[in-house]
Amino acid sequence: MSVVDRQEWDVVVVGAGGAGLRAAIEARERGARTAVICKSLFGKAHTVMAEGGIAAAMANVNEHDTWQVHFRDTMRGGKFLNQWRMAELHAQEAPDRVWELETWGALFDRTKDGKISQRNFGGHEYPRLAHVGDRTGLELIRTLQQKIVALQQEDYRATGDYESRLKVFQECTVTRILKDGERSEMGVPPAGGRGRVSGVFAYERETGRFFVLKAPAVVIATGGIGKSFKVTSNSWEYTGDGHALALLAGAPLLNMEFVQFHPTGMVWPPSVKGILVTESVRGDGGVLRNSDGKRFMFDYIPDVFKEKYAESEEEGDRWYDDPDRNRRPPELLPRDEVARAINAEVKAGRGSPHGGVFLDVSTRMPAEVIRRRLPSMYHQFKELADVDITAEPMEVGPTCHYVMGGIAVDSDTAAARGVPGLYAAGEVAGGMHGSNRLGGNSLSDLLVFGRRAGLHAAEHAAASADDRPRVSDEQVDAAAAEALGPFSAGGGETAGDREAAGGGQGVGGPPENPYTLHQELQQTMNDLVGIIRREQEMEQALKKLAELRGRARRAGVEGHRQFNPGWHLALDLRNMLLVSECVARAALERTESRGGHTREDHPTMDRAWRNVNLLCALARPADELAEADPARGRIALTRETTEPIRPDLLALFEKEELVKYLAEEELYE
Ligand code: FAD
Repeated sequence: MSVVDRQEWDVVVVGAGGAGLRAAIEARERGARTAVICKSLFGKAHTVMAEGGIAAAMANVNEHDTWQVHFRDTMRGGKFLNQWRMAELHAQEAPDRVWELETWGALFDRTKDGKISQRNFGGHEYPRLAHVGDRTGLELIRTLQQKIVALQQEDYRATGDYESRLKVFQECTVTRILKDGERSEMGVPPAGGRGRVSGVFAYERETGRFFVLKAPAVVIATGGIGKSFKVTSNSWEYTGDGHALALLAGAPLLNMEFVQFHPTGMVWPPSVKGILVTESVRGDGGVLRNSDGKRFMFDYIPDVFKEKYAESEEEGDRWYDDPDRNRRPPELLPRDEVARAINAEVKAGRGSPHGGVFLDVSTRMPAEVIRRRLPSMYHQFKELADVDITAEPMEVGPTCHYVMGGIAVDSDTAAARGVPGLYAAGEVAGGMHGSNRLGGNSLSDLLVFGRRAGLHAAEHAAASADDRPRVSDEQVDAAAAEALGPFSAGGGETAGDREAAGGGQGVGGPPENPYTLHQELQQTMNDLVGIIRREQEMEQALKKLAELRGRARRAGVEGHRQFNPGWHLALDLRNMLLVSECVARAALERTESRGGHTREDHPTMDRAWRNVNLLCALARPADELAEADPARGRIALTRETTEPIRPDLLALFEKEELVKYLAEEELYE
């Protein structure tokens, strides 16, 4: 019988980034008692790192901007694989979400006439990114945090307790979504759509103490998966936890092959390789050159974008001052195009000394303007690489940045497919960005769908008020045993600790070091399922992942549960391995190149794939077998035809353009 602490809430939000906080605010405002739980300190989520801005068609800088233009740009960026209803809602609601932030105290940069300023970004037809220098994410989180504190003060006045209706559990990790009416074996609650959500199982990172938050509605807002790759702009939190939690609870993941490699990460020195160089550098006039000094992007404009981009440097340069009569420079193509172009230049031997290309802003703007508009970039290069970007070019190259694939959700309600009571928003949710996300569209996505997830989770919780789901002791004990597994392999945890948590389980063989396993995983994903993919390499990756899965069952740690980073990593490995298998399987299946997924052996976009979604689910009934034999893999992949795009939305595009994207039968219809 478990002795794990339990608390009752209406809605539990897993993740305190932009999506999680916006969901929590909405749920609380709709009357739901809401708990937020996050791995890092409150206010330190990955969203803080966002630099360039929030995309919203407010038309402050160019009056021609509308939600329809934003929708079109988003669909083009995603190569028409976007869940179109999400792209529609996103484009329509983003301006309201930005204005709302302002009413909550966000201080955006202003235009000369006092409106919220908006800047250019790749793939956006008009200047559209509301920003705060290059520290927009920090202001977004600060504002949402402030709003939460304001709500807590309101609750204090009403109840005498700041945390009576909205509480943040910081530095805690959720390891399982719990469901009503399910048995579990070997620490693995069965997958599948059965059973409704009943809460989460979590541990405090500092003390290792286990606890359960019971709730009829859970919103997953855990962000991305970048830490499965060696070179990444992502922070330590991005271990794909939410993706894995959803899979294990029985919700499928959508189109996991689409991983965005941002074209401009730092390449030197090695200790900072992968750290992001914001797209605002190009949005504000920065140009890319190869070792011959050539602005090479003019050689890489794909046919589908030819009419929209400048043909000469002169035209591209004129566009910054006169965008209505000139076309934008190709440095502002969507990220997938620019990343592939940089990769090709380096491969052709025209790279910079440290294996990137040159990004130059020093010859394009006065030094004081660079320091004012790009303060973080200025300091980042000065402090980390001893490069003064006001006087010399930066060296940059692609870095794993964002995952477009994610939990399959209903567009309107953010409900995860197949698991009543489960919702997902932000980077962890799939569909919105299709095969490639435009810069700035994530922060707006977090706000639009964070709000929707909070709203519908609160409604679901209210509807369950008279029939709340139960949390079974058996599931809690199984989750505790699973979490203690690494101590059995390492032999460090005391028997008393294990007994207190319901008993641990060991596996045969010598213990494996979780850090070594993580390094091998990152190298495998980087080298074999990275920016350019080939069939044989992905097959090799799947074999290596199977080997790592086997070894990860013996990932052992020593010491105690009190802040033990090795133990945390050993638990995160389960998630990274599951998610990496999804990425590799889906990438092998999709025999075309589209957006963030580039196949050297299938180099073109194939219209026949336009309306095909790939869904990854936990293999059933084979998961018990997979437990016994990790080489079998745990993921089952299926194809599904996408819902036809609504005719009034299609009518926003020229017919000639649709011909380039839509599958034959869609055009016929
Ligand atoms: P996050 O902000 O990452 O929050 C995830 C939360 O989940 C965290 O609180 C974490 O602790 C918690 N969590 C994770 N796992 C668990 C678990 N198991 N248990 C409990 N809690 C958990 N996008 C833009 O639109 N514009 C930009 O200018 C921009 N710039 C960027 C710059 C950089 C350097 C990077 C890396 C990304 C940038 N992006 C930008 C992308 C954008 O920042 C992210 O996609 C977005 O912030 C994700 O927000 P989120 O709320 O989904 O997740």
